[in-house]
Amino acid sequence: MDIMYDETVKIILLGNVSVGKTTFCNVLKKKEFNYNYHSTIGVDFHTIYYKKNKKYRIQVWDTAGQEKFRSLVSCYFKKTDLIIIMFDINDIQSYNDIIYWREFANIHANPHSPIILLGNKTDLVERADMEKIRNYADMQKMPLHIMSVKTNKNFDDLLNLIIDNLPFNIMGKKEEPVITPQKGCCVIQ
Ligand code: GDP
Ligand code: MG
Repeated sequence: MDIMYDETVKIILLGNVSVGKTTFCNVLKKKEFNYNYHSTIGVDFHTIYYKKNKKYRIQVWDTAGQEKFRSLVSCYFKKTDLIIIMFDINDIQSYNDIIYWREFANIHANPHSPIILLGNKTDLVERADMEKIRNYADMQKMPLHIMSVKTNKNFDDLLNLIIDNLPFNIMGKKEEPVITPQKGCCVIQ
């Protein structure tokens, strides 16, 4: 089925192993959102269609297996519109590593990409120092969203936050990154 949309949005999910990135994609798949799944040369994209003022085609990339596709990753990263750093509010290491993922994004991603912090697993006992995380998010000007991707029925708040933070919605235009072609570098549409 060919679905009409006004904008394509490319999002990358970053975060430690086991914070819930794949579950997030799988849960989105089961929602009433129109959902497609593509597997292109070993990289999986999850495509969601979402309407807020305009119709968006949102491509979410779960970064599992990134080591295998390093050159592909670096090309795709430069074309992202937004990055989500996911952590598990019950896993101290995963929120200590937010800084690592932030630096990783700074080095590899489109510098115009805003970063949303997504704290997952609110259905479990909270171990994180949320005050500290809120302060860090404020300081770094990163919007913070807390949820359980397993039990939450509603992803609209998060999707609206994504849409509201898109550079072309804030600045009125899409910033195209400068990409230096590399050997073995693929361009994904
Ligand atoms: P990934 O490595 O970041 O892709 O993490 P996964 O999506 O594979 O999830 C790791 C584990 O966390 C799995 O057992 C999931 O069922 C579980 N999980 C993911 N999201 C939640 C959540 O919101 N609440 C709870 N309790 N478990 C979750
Ligand atoms: Mg995974």
